[in-house]
Amino acid sequence: MKVDTATLEVISPKVQISENYIETDYEYQTSHVKRSANGKIQVHPESAALKIRTDRRVPKLGLMLVGWGGNNGSTLTAALEANRRQLQWRKRTGIQKANWFGSITQASTVLIGSDEDGKDVHLPMKDLVPMVNPDDIVVDGWDISSANIGDAMQRAQVLDVELQDQLYKHLSTLQPRPSIYDPDFIAANQSERADNLIKGTKFEQYEQLRRDIRDFKQKSGVDTVLVLWTANTERFCDVKEGLNSTIAELEASLKANKAEISPSTIFAMASIDEGCTYINGSPQNTFVPGLVELAEHKSVFIAGDDFKSGQTKLKSVLVDFLVSAGIKPVSIVSYNHLGNNDGKNLSAPQQFRSKEISKSNVVDDMVESNDVLYKPNEHPDHVVVIKYVPYVGDSKRAMDEYTSEIMMGGHNTLVIHNTCEDSLLATPLILDLVILGELCSRIQIKSNERADALWVSFKPVLSLLSYLCKAPLVPRGTQVVNSLFRQRSAIENILRGCIGLPPNSHMMLEQRFD
Ligand code: NAD
Repeated sequence: MKVDTATLEVISPKVQISENYIETDYEYQTSHVKRSANGKIQVHPESAALKIRTDRRVPKLGLMLVGWGGNNGSTLTAALEANRRQLQWRKRTGIQKANWFGSITQASTVLIGSDEDGKDVHLPMKDLVPMVNPDDIVVDGWDISSANIGDAMQRAQVLDVELQDQLYKHLSTLQPRPSIYDPDFIAANQSERADNLIKGTKFEQYEQLRRDIRDFKQKSGVDTVLVLWTANTERFCDVKEGLNSTIAELEASLKANKAEISPSTIFAMASIDEGCTYINGSPQNTFVPGLVELAEHKSVFIAGDDFKSGQTKLKSVLVDFLVSAGIKPVSIVSYNHLGNNDGKNLSAPQQFRSKEISKSNVVDDMVESNDVLYKPNEHPDHVVVIKYVPYVGDSKRAMDEYTSEIMMGGHNTLVIHNTCEDSLLATPLILDLVILGELCSRIQIKSNERADALWVSFKPVLSLLSYLCKAPLVPRGTQVVNSLFRQRSAIENILRGCIGLPPNSHMMLEQRFD
């Protein structure tokens, strides 16, 4: 049988394709490690016969953004419209066409195999399995600022003016829904834009959000709604017994209007209770234990935290490279300054602290992976500084210094300077989170060894989206992986598995042996 997408056919007896599903017989190989009493590592290679199936029916997708009128929210809405209409505009340097550069689903490729001349053949990731087409996504959302999305786009000062002018008429018809404003959670300097608010108790606000989701679904005719937080960074909330450590506590605290229930947690509860995947693009601890339990209990996906767009993405490549090259990073200093509203919010100490925590753990697993270089509990010095400089607007500057120990006590210092529009890096990540988050709900596996085995879905904590997140949330008791290449391989190889291809091992034996 064959899988047949627009550009790809997989010819294999292990692949069955029906009207609704692509189903593959898949040999999953892994290895299990045990430590014996004498300290020896015992490895047990294991193999499991699985079936993987992917539902081919792509739903009409609705996306509700919390913080719709922000730089990311308005830029995403503008980019969807610009790409849908294939807009072009004049820059000083010539004609620019709308594109999705920076999105792994839309603008990156996956190695499929080699051809008869031994040359690599790549395909766009979006062509591997049926995925939502960005052109078909319907956007809605909330913002504490009442500016329509056309005005929000102008306020953001991200896109070229000639593009803004082509988009303004349509975008100005889009109006964010009122939202929950709690000055205790975002910086006090945001109060001047808070003019579009849901009144009432926390429970009444939660009920309003649920009504909003249903209203959007009904009016737009979408099949599925996904909710994504791209609003300002909140301070961390307290996590403690009696407040939010179980579903029951969380629900009771919401009803009791407890001050420590943050707006983002209320959004996540409303979203999960409406059966909608909830993604957190900011660093705060929205996903308190009671909320994770709620997602598990209702089998609804959650993912986060904090978009991994620039400096941290590079860090999760560079430290991986250094440590896996046997070089020992001993000091990592990351400084940035930015002048957009996100930077203004982060200039307040408690909100900065959320970002600092999110940025700080990114090297941990890579350091722990190498006990030749690091003793137990030894870490490089790691400092993160963020400063608000209004003049630079959305054009963020990041400066990083990585000092490593090399052979015989020598040192290697790398200094990196990065300037770019922050929101033009983050927006394609939002698209990927949404498209891959939706796709995950259409992929299931089951054992091929037992006739009575049932299909199972991904666990509610969607760790496959770690590639896109600075501080990846993973299911309880599982490994956090920060390395960008490992995170990408996971996505790539699972997509390959969905169409009956083995993981990309890069062994290339056919080319290395006679
Ligand atoms: P922004 O300040 O331009 O936009 C945030 C929007 O959220 C504003 O319009 C604000 O009015 C609104 N808002 C605040 N509280 C709200 C609430 N309770 N309900 C609804 N709306 C609310 O910021 P941005 O540059 O778009 O970034 C958004 C978030 O994404 C920030 O938390 C930021 O830290 C995070 N993030 C951004 C990047 C990036 O841009 N490269 C990377 C990682 C994380």
